[in-house]
Amino acid sequence: MELLKNRIALRWRRTKIVATLGPASSDRQMIEKLLRAGVDVVRLNMSHGTHEAHREVYANVRAVARKLDRHVGIFADLCGPKIRCGKFPEGPLKLLPGEEVIIDPRLDKGGPGLIASQYRAIARDVRAGHRILLDDGNLELKALAIEGERVRCKVVFGGLLKDHKGINLPDSKVSASSLPPKDIADAKFAIELGVDYLALSFVRTAKDVAGLRRLIARAGADTPIIAKIETPEAMENIDAIVQASDAIMVARGDLGIEMPAEQVPLIQRELIRLGRRHNRAVIVATQMLESMIDHSRPTRAEVGDVANAALTGADAVMLSAETASGKYPVRAVEMMDRVLREVEGYQWQQGSFLAGEPVTDNELDMRDGVANAAASLAHDLKLQGVIIPTQSGTTARVICSHRPTAPLVAVSTNEAVCRRLALNWGIVPMTASEAEYGKWDALCSRIAQRCDLTRTGHNVLLVAGFSDDPKRNAPLLQILRV
Ligand code: PEP
Repeated sequence: MELLKNRIALRWRRTKIVATLGPASSDRQMIEKLLRAGVDVVRLNMSHGTHEAHREVYANVRAVARKLDRHVGIFADLCGPKIRCGKFPEGPLKLLPGEEVIIDPRLDKGGPGLIASQYRAIARDVRAGHRILLDDGNLELKALAIEGERVRCKVVFGGLLKDHKGINLPDSKVSASSLPPKDIADAKFAIELGVDYLALSFVRTAKDVAGLRRLIARAGADTPIIAKIETPEAMENIDAIVQASDAIMVARGDLGIEMPAEQVPLIQRELIRLGRRHNRAVIVATQMLESMIDHSRPTRAEVGDVANAALTGADAVMLSAETASGKYPVRAVEMMDRVLREVEGYQWQQGSFLAGEPVTDNELDMRDGVANAAASLAHDLKLQGVIIPTQSGTTARVICSHRPTAPLVAVSTNEAVCRRLALNWGIVPMTASEAEYGKWDALCSRIAQRCDLTRTGHNVLLVAGFSDDPKRNAPLLQILRV
């Protein structure tokens, strides 16, 4: 147990922290506390709040990041085709096991034996025998018969059903548009604000991602897309979805309702592998420190969950209600930061952040081969840092997939690229002026000093020149003495 006795603390935390902002964390003072506690990227959840409220929070984050001289990413999370039940004006509906209940999409108010839903296609998508899950899967119905536009169901697991609770149809092919009108309006609003990513919920195929990509292009932007993986259909099309997106989120809340819960940990692990193979950041989300919504300390199991995400190579871990509406937003971030640092110190001492897993067993392409060599050099020569000039962010993302042991400083003249890279494992984003870009010796010296990477005479590695376009792909790898 020598490793555990001689604990070390790394200067730069490698696994990034995403925090959802909400009523508990919208003002500048709280945002400053959260950023100082270690938040790298914030999430604006479009399922709640008005555009005006989001605009204000967005401005607050940008102002605080400027004050702290930090590149902080912001993403807007679109609601997606989430199906919900309507209201119960007479109070929550009591569902008893064995009794029958009707779902009627033509109504907006329910009552005894009747659930309203705004999802018009429910009777087309659901077949007799399909499961219908309510309120995050806490209540379960079984469809008995389709009666016109209505679905007659039997209660399997009962309980109290409150207004607007979610409906999941894990056995049905949901035909709802992947970009409902609210998402289109929210996406346009968020693009106009200038968010660094858009997250798309309930992605089912790569076409869903392409649809949002077209909307972004029509708005004259190139905002990257985070595909939220939360349905069995997404898992069937996962390779194409990952390649069509810029990052993915393991959205374990809905994923754990739509898929058997016991499969979620292994799906999470495989998605992290897949993300690394395609140089896409992977965010592990939901219930990471759930008990800290109400309590000042997490459960031991939650600490284990955060540690496992870092040990298996997640780029980022996310807090939801813990920071959006919980009682201890800052403590939750501090806790996450401490767990990640503990794990990473241990991994560093073991000499690898890869948990023994190469990016792929297949033959590497040229970029991955060079990135792999960079990671080996950084390790074998005990280099103090890897400096990565990157205009689009591609070079930095490819290198980070190989998880070098030295800190990765990505340098770009484009501030938006720096903010996007705030999500990727291990990357410290820095801006450079057009004038110094290309003058690598001087740039590396400045960066090394600024980041306190090395003392005079030590070495850093410079890696540049990767492109998605094979004609422009001209990797450069150079050891520089500072
Ligand atoms: C999830 O389902 O885990 C998730 C992150 O999505 P949302 O919070 O939007 O439901």
